[in-house]
Amino acid sequence: MPEKVVIIGSGPAGWTAAIYAARANLQPLVFEGALTPENQVNGTLPLGQLNLTTEVENFPAWPHVDAAALAQFSKSALPEERYANLQGFYEGKQAHHGKRAAFGPEMMEYMRQQAVNFGTRIVTDDIVQVDLQRHPFRLTSLEGQQLETLTLILATGARANYLGLPSEERYKNNGVSACAVCDGALPRFRNKPLVVVGGGDSAVEESTYLTKFANPVYLVHRRDQLRASQIMQQRALSNPKITMKWNRVLDEVLGTDRDGVTGVRLKSTVDNQIEELAASGLFLAIGHTPNTDFLKGQVELDAKGYIRLTEPQRTYTSVAGVFAAGDVADSYYRQAVTAAGTGCMAALDAERWLAEHGSH
Ligand code: NAP
Repeated sequence: MPEKVVIIGSGPAGWTAAIYAARANLQPLVFEGALTPENQVNGTLPLGQLNLTTEVENFPAWPHVDAAALAQFSKSALPEERYANLQGFYEGKQAHHGKRAAFGPEMMEYMRQQAVNFGTRIVTDDIVQVDLQRHPFRLTSLEGQQLETLTLILATGARANYLGLPSEERYKNNGVSACAVCDGALPRFRNKPLVVVGGGDSAVEESTYLTKFANPVYLVHRRDQLRASQIMQQRALSNPKITMKWNRVLDEVLGTDRDGVTGVRLKSTVDNQIEELAASGLFLAIGHTPNTDFLKGQVELDAKGYIRLTEPQRTYTSVAGVFAAGDVADSYYRQAVTAAGTGCMAALDAERWLAEHGSH
């Protein structure tokens, strides 16, 4: 018997789709991703990009709360083995105290558990191959499992691009971030100099956003002209708190294990001159890569590899019965709450599709 709904991906889009599909009695099966070293390096382990962040202050209904209350909440909401994944936040040397928003990993465990509570089944593996030219669709996992499904929800997300410097990796979540909207308001960045790398709309938007908290914001770009749209360029160039660093690339992130990022070393693309800047944070805004390699030739992708949605306000893809939700089909908003919203839409679309085709 084919599955009714398979969901690939385990970020906010995947779990929201699972919650809705489970509550519609569709017994969804989620492939949450494999625990492989390759996924570790690529930032594509289960639970998505939110699992790589610290506080999430912009997801509605999660105000600051005492860390001990969050510990209590986690203990009450999660089975022991999943609580263990979060224990370090509450106990021991690294424990956090005082009021804070929920951390990304906490929110992802809660979303996963909510899906489980309504009967979602989970496989901790990647889907590496799909055949969408036949129906039921056929899927193959990394471990070689083969299965068929009547509908498919693609929610594999995207990964932020990093430059690949070891020092950048070392200070991730300790001053290095790829999301100003997620992390910019953290206390460590307040009224301190910050560095943004990139030259597109994201880099400009993130720099402008960061000027609310920090001063100055150095915008480092490898050329002498921004790629960003004219209106965004004007915004950056006329902002007195943004200092442009043209024709420069990041050579090294400077810091200590105790303080995290303390500065950056830049190299000129014109004459190789080196310059050091003091800064408490580094934000990368050099684009994202959607996790769609396994879909090539099966479903229509845009020029950047994102899944192309075929109708406004719907999660339909170029293949009937295949739906897409979250960042894998969104290079524009890329927020946890928008991903969750489209996850809900995809489950409703799948449910209606099954009803129309006499399968539900
Ligand atoms: P993007 O437009 O692809 O820009 C990426 C930037 O990063 C480019 O300036 C590029 O430099 C630079 N870059 C790439 N790799 C680099 C490397 N290895 N080292 C140094 N610099 C590197 O990406 P984005 O800014 O994330 O925007 C993505 C899409 O979302 C765009 O369509 C954008 O318009 C849209 N967006 C819109 C808004 C808005 O309208 N409010 C806000 C955010 C994003 P080069 O220029 O030299 O190639």
